[in-house]
Amino acid sequence: MISAEDLVSLVPVPDAAKPTAMWLWLHLDPLGRGLMDPTGIARRMQPPSTPDTILEHLVMLMDAGWLTTFHAEGEEWILLLYPLKTDLRNTPIHTPEPPPKLSMESVAMGRGVRERARERARAEVRAEDAARADAWAAVQRDREEQPERPERPAVLDAPQMFCDDHMPGGAGRQKCGPCRDARLLRDEWMQRRVYEERMTTYHEQVSDEGVWDDEIF
Ligand SMILES: [Zn+2]
Repeated sequence: MISAEDLVSLVPVPDAAKPTAMWLWLHLDPLGRGLMDPTGIARRMQPPSTPDTILEHLVMLMDAGWLTTFHAEGEEWILLLYPLKTDLRNTPIHTPEPPPKLSMESVAMGRGVRERARERARAEVRAEDAARADAWAAVQRDREEQPERPERPAVLDAPQMFCDDHMPGGAGRQKCGPCRDARLLRDEWMQRRVYEERMTTYHEQVSDEGVWDDEIF
């Protein structure tokens, strides 16, 4: 797996991009090659990320000289410059070969590539941010700003946790029937509240979609 020697290569990588770098190590092929597909990577990460975030991380990793990209077979490919040191015997490789010399010289010659990639990435991210901000502003305009009264936490109204004799600390190790009854009652009450909350959310979402269907689209 990942060795201490491998980890040293992450030192110049910004912290924000480190989890993505680890993911690439574990999911690209053993030579550190895979499709340049921020959307697919974002979707496959756990927890899932967004294509914008992944693209930013890939650009950071390019800036740190940790990866580069190349074109082959009509696609753009990621090439990790510090692939994990693994045993490659009997490992079938399906990704295309990078152009000769690329992996050796990419840190030096990659400057132009990285600059272009970064410019392109930033322009894309800016455009997407702007589109998203517009959409969000439209949604905000539609929703009148009405401060909502905070909800009373359900637990404040719940039946007590133990019997009268043992409130509030419980009976300790000793078994107490009335305590048990109190707990069951409270559990049922809480379950009911949780279910009500979920149903409320469900109905809100259903009616929201109705509004969107009718008015916006
Ligand atoms: Zn009790």
